[in-house]
Amino acid sequence: MKLYSKHIFPHKYGVEDYYNGRWESDIKSSAICIGLTLVLLGLSVGHELMHYFLDGIELSLENYVLLVFRMISFVCSLLAIIWLVLNRHRPKFISYERGIFVWELAIVGVSLYANLVNLQSSYIGSTAGIPIIMFLYILIPQHNGVLRIVPPIIFSVGLTLIYHFFKTSLDPVGFWAMYVGIIFVNLMGAYFADKMYFKDYLLYCLSNCDELTGVYNRRYLEKKLRKEWQTCYEEGKLISCCLIDIDLFKDFNDTYGHLRGDVILKKVSAELIKSIERADDFLARYGGEEFIIILPGRNKVECTIFAENIRKKIEELKILHNVSHVSLYLTLSIGVSTIIPRAEMHYDELINKADIALYQAKDEGRNRVVVYEEGRKNFAKFR
Ligand code: GH3
Ligand code: MG
Ligand code: MG
Repeated sequence: MKLYSKHIFPHKYGVEDYYNGRWESDIKSSAICIGLTLVLLGLSVGHELMHYFLDGIELSLENYVLLVFRMISFVCSLLAIIWLVLNRHRPKFISYERGIFVWELAIVGVSLYANLVNLQSSYIGSTAGIPIIMFLYILIPQHNGVLRIVPPIIFSVGLTLIYHFFKTSLDPVGFWAMYVGIIFVNLMGAYFADKMYFKDYLLYCLSNCDELTGVYNRRYLEKKLRKEWQTCYEEGKLISCCLIDIDLFKDFNDTYGHLRGDVILKKVSAELIKSIERADDFLARYGGEEFIIILPGRNKVECTIFAENIRKKIEELKILHNVSHVSLYLTLSIGVSTIIPRAEMHYDELINKADIALYQAKDEGRNRVVVYEEGRKNFAKFR
């Protein structure tokens, strides 16, 4: 996935958001997988207990330990499902993949131990363990790393060794064939899951991102701004916006050519991406040479400092702009607005106000940040 993202998102901008977007559906898959394990664990523990109670066989120490292991796995799996369901609306949990990996290893460990001490239901461990893990791989797109192949390999090799050394009645060649086959199927699963999710990822990029600069497009802006606006409204928080416009870019194109113009747009957007520090802030291409940054929860002063930093950074890039009467180098004008969302307002108001401030920045001579103030409501009309 990382390889692909390099081409679609030139700056890997938005990859996290893509994953976060998948989180809820991944939780469903994980809950189903862990739920299945839970059923199998329950069945095997029930089967064991019935066997010992009905047939009156004495429980050996190993078997007793195994029963305890299985009960621990049962409780842990149950807790994992509850945790996943409770956290379904949160952003992606950073250690999620690591957690899944440890969970798989634990299942493999218990299954191998079951095979070693040869409980009556050990066949459940050997027949169900690997299909469950495979199922998990196919369902969870992020879990695509090299690590995904480790648990089945440990399981296959361990099981083969156990049967080779401790259970001579079975044909070891048959076991090798079976488990090498399963590893192969797993690898194929990993390959196809990767392909499948790459298509999904591609579709996400094509619909939400700007092809030239790799930042979000207008479509995504609408979607995300609506969401952030609603959150800020509910929490009574401020929301700020910077509308950024490259100064005299038409003249730049006319002088240096459109191809050079494209290169500069990429360069500017890369610099803007670098300025985004917080997870909730986001950047989109608003129009041709216009960008927008939404900063939920930031006040006017913070947003102005943020905008001023951006303006300075672009100026410091020292991109030659010979025909500009503003500066020797390429510059930006930025309009800033801050609002506390109210019920009767529409989020368009935030952009409108930033737009009015941007017009003023242009009017006052460009290469500057202007903050929207209430009195200037009709500024654009007076121009
Ligand atoms: P101002 O300082 O008032 O903003 O002047 P300006 O020349 O930047 O503004 P204007 O809106 O007149 O021109 C915007 C220019 O941006 C026009 C177009 O040539 C250029 N532009 C828009 N999209 C692209 C693009 O994708 N690539 C290139 N190379 N240029 C673009
Ligand atoms: Mg413009
Ligand atoms: Mg411009």
